[in-house]
Amino acid sequence: MPFSHDTERALAETAALVNTVGLDGDTLVTLADFDDLLARYPYSGAIRRTPQELESVRALRPRLRKFWAVADRDEAAVLVNQILAEADARPYLARHDEWDWHLHVTRPDAPLADRIAAEAAMAFLDLVRADELGRLRICAAADCADVLVDLSKNSSKRYCDTGNCGNRTNVAAYRARKRLQSA
Ligand SMILES: [Zn+2]
Ligand SMILES: [Zn+2]
Repeated sequence: MPFSHDTERALAETAALVNTVGLDGDTLVTLADFDDLLARYPYSGAIRRTPQELESVRALRPRLRKFWAVADRDEAAVLVNQILAEADARPYLARHDEWDWHLHVTRPDAPLADRIAAEAAMAFLDLVRADELGRLRICAAADCADVLVDLSKNSSKRYCDTGNCGNRTNVAAYRARKRLQSA
């Protein structure tokens, strides 16, 4: 199940964007938050850094999160097609900077939210095609609803990357066992 580097990167970026809003609040509210996100996940092409652009990127989150909740491939395929159409995706090959020929999905001057959405849709498209939507999971920690992408070979990833959820859950389980033993 090897996916292309582009697909893996887009899935990680999409999960990170979706996870900016969660049970513990919203970390993509201000333009400073926006700068932080753009520093962590540099998107190529034009970035206007306006309140409108931020708002359109924030609005993508519930739409992209839907992929973690689809019932089946058919539903995911419909979502992929909708997003590609709305983002006016027109794939073409590009070669720039140190990068050899690779796929671009939208023009570099297209709105940032459209570019992010189209790249995410292309990555989900790969998961649909390979019948690997099961790689999209919700964190197993009881107090976390963040999304994760499991690209491990044995499909064993259960916790998100954002909140140290695996350790926290193990510590809680350890304490619960201790309490039982000392009761
Ligand atoms: Zn490029
Ligand atoms: Zn988590």
